[in-house]
Formats: sequence, C-alpha cells, structure tokens
Amino acid sequence: MKQKVTVFGSFVVDLMARTPHLPAPAETVKGSFFKQGAGGKGFNQGVAAHKAGGDVAMITKLGRDSMANVALDVMTELNMPKDFLFYNDDVATGIALIMVDENSSQNEIVIVPGACGTITAEDIKSVEQRICDSAYILLQLEVNQDANEAVAKLAKEHGVRVILNTAPYQPVTDEFLKGCWLVTPNEVEAEEMTGVPVTDLESANRAAKIFFEKGVENVLITLGSRGVYINTGDRAEIIPAFHVKAVDTTGAGDAFNGGLLAALAEGKDIWEAARFASGLAALSVQRIGTTPAMPTREEIDAFLA
Ligand code: ADP
Repeated sequence: MKQKVTVFGSFVVDLMARTPHLPAPAETVKGSFFKQGAGGKGFNQGVAAHKAGGDVAMITKLGRDSMANVALDVMTELNMPKDFLFYNDDVATGIALIMVDENSSQNEIVIVPGACGTITAEDIKSVEQRICDSAYILLQLEVNQDANEAVAKLAKEHGVRVILNTAPYQPVTDEFLKGCWLVTPNEVEAEEMTGVPVTDLESANRAAKIFFEKGVENVLITLGSRGVYINTGDRAEIIPAFHVKAVDTTGAGDAFNGGLLAALAEGKDIWEAARFASGLAALSVQRIGTTPAMPTREEIDAFLA
C-alpha cells in the first residue's frame, strides 16, 4: 500500500563559501571554496521522501531565472514530477548565502526566500485536488505563513494528516497547531515553542503535554545523535539514533522528516516510520551536503536489514 503524499515548502539555492575567517562588518575576505546546490527545507524533505520511494508531490515556487534550474535539474535527474511548481515572474528564486569559517566550522547564513515566500491563494487552489488526495502533507515554516495556514486548513478539512516540521522556528498561532496530526520540532525548536528545555524523557513529556494542550495529536522531537522522542498520547519513548560517524549533520532533520513521510505513506506506524527515518538520516549525515546526501531506497533497506 503506497499512498500519495505532498510536501509543501521552500526551495532556495544554497550558495556556500568557505573562508579563512568570517568577514567583519565592511570587511571583504577572499574565500577558498564555493559550491552551489539545491536547498530549502521543503525541497530537501521532498527529495528525501522521493528517493526513499514516496509518491511525492513537491509544491514550491521558483523565480523565472537561472537559479530555478538548480531545482529543475535535480527534479529531472531524480524523475520527480514538476507539475506542482509555481513561478513568480517578478521575484527571484530563493537563495541562502552560507559562509563557513574553514578553521572553526562556524557559519553565518542569510536566507532570502524570494519566490517561495510569495505563494498565493490562487496557487494553492490549483493544487487543491492533489493536496486532498494525499494521505499526509508535510509543512515547514520557511514559506509565507499565510500560505501554510491556508494549506493546513484545507488539509485538515479533508482529513489529510498534517505533519508540521516547526523549522526554522517562528511563532505560530494556536489555530495553526490545532488538529495537526504530528509536530516534529528539533530540541531547540521544542524549547522555543513550549518554553521547556528538552534534555531527557521527563522534560520531553512536559513539552509534549503543551503541544497536546494546543490540539496536536502526536509529538516527535528529534534529538540529534541522541535519537528521537515520540509521544502518541498512550506511549512515550526515546528511540536511540544509529551509531555512525557523522561528517555533516546539515539537513539531518530534513532527511528524517522526508523519510518519516515516505514510511508513513506505506502504512508503517509512527514507531516503524521513525526507525526508517532514523536510518535514512544516519546515512545522510555520513555525506556532505543536503539534497545530494539523501540516500536511495536501496541504500536505506540495506542499512536497516
Ligand atoms: P535538525 O537537523 O533539525 O537539528 P536533528 O539534529 O535533531 O535535526 O537530527 C534529526 C535526526 O537525524 C535525529 O533524530 C537522528 O535520527 C538523525 N541524526 C542526527 N545527527 C545524527 C548523528 N550524528 N548520528 C546519527 N544520526 C543522527
């Protein structure tokens, strides 16, 4: 049983430069390395879910510019349907300027959502059918929030289960949270959203209680290399992460969320789906980059066997 799913979210081009030190205000620094690649939480999660075998509609918005080709090229290569993309004639494709200090690995990032921050009610109307045909829809907080709210409302009205990855953190209304089937903050976002520092099972339970009081049905908090906390109301546990040698944990959360979506769509329950997602994420952190680091279904199955 493979059900349709939808990822609604951002696409930005990651423009990454490595430099001997991060520039001070008004300083120009000669960098040592530059790389451009597909990014954005929505797109990363869509790619992860697709490569994991999901029947995924990726809904995002691009500009009419060469940066859009970065998304289109990846989608062509992976054979992902492009029927759910929108274009803004006037606003550039989103970008993330990432500067990494090659000595300390500290970074400075500026994200300009650009086109993917301009999703309109008409755009959503034109993909309404696909959203309503989906078993699950996965959202993040990187596109314009009025669009997220409209999509979540539509999905809930049609019995589509809403999974909200609360990244990057921004305050959201209680109405938006109410009726979400699952929220998936990382531990930092969980604290930002509930005020509870999540350090162990007991504190995670307290944070989960606050989400439940807001009308969320299930809570999952990712804890980096420590694993993932899940609370389904009648059962709460921390599932440990797989022991691997991580080389780049950027996008681990995106890998996890995409994997979770693909596994849920196959009818796995949340516990089985989280194990699958942990395996996918563990593979992704052993590689550099975000979308290129997402493993194939064969690799995930081999890892979990
Ligand atoms: P985010 O990238 O949103 O901060 P996390 O760091 O919590 O998300 O990671 C998400 C998931 O990825 C974790 O729950 C875990 O399953 C996996 N993961 C992250 N870091 C590692 C690691 N070093 N080793 C193995 N798995 C990891």
